[in-house]
Amino acid sequence: MTTVGVLALQGDVREHAAAVSALGAQVSLVRRPRELDEVDAIILPGGESTTIDKLLRAFDLRDPLMARIEAGLPVLGSCAGMILLATELVDGIEGQQTLEAIPMTVRRNAFGRQVDSAEASLTWLPDGSPMEATFIRAPWVESYGEGVEVLATADGADGTTHAVAVQYENRLATAFHPEISDEPRVHQRLLELI
Ligand code: GLN
Repeated sequence: MTTVGVLALQGDVREHAAAVSALGAQVSLVRRPRELDEVDAIILPGGESTTIDKLLRAFDLRDPLMARIEAGLPVLGSCAGMILLATELVDGIEGQQTLEAIPMTVRRNAFGRQVDSAEASLTWLPDGSPMEATFIRAPWVESYGEGVEVLATADGADGTTHAVAVQYENRLATAFHPEISDEPRVHQRLLELI
């Protein structure tokens, strides 16, 4: 049976676990390096990227996680998880590190601090269908490198359009939270990458 790990250091772990279970896969919470050995994919939840980054290092998980992703472990990061997958950050805090897994620059809190949370109707570009998305102090993709496929875009308050869901090889990232809006297509895509 397919086992999907959810990085369980901080953030909306439960919601991701429920989304994976609803699709019929087994869930395993990951807090220790050896727990990484048992998973066929890993989810980096939304939460606070600066906290998750510090805990990854405190729990000696950063290096093994980077190594497993580099070796081909499929990964999905939502919101803070998207930030963690970026190679470069705009508005990161001093000393903030990432897992450098998707060649993209991600801007933290990009939609403006005044708007804590917003719902938006997006187009899921893989099939052109509508997708309701929940943004919570969300980042956006400022720029990206070769090989990055844009799966959805959204407009900022200033009218500029930015990628908010991307795929690079078997690595997925969304600026929004499919795990809290009853939206199975993103988790389904992760399962298909296994
Ligand atoms: N702004 C948060 C950060 O920088 C992300 C918010 C979220 O995951 N909902 O980590």
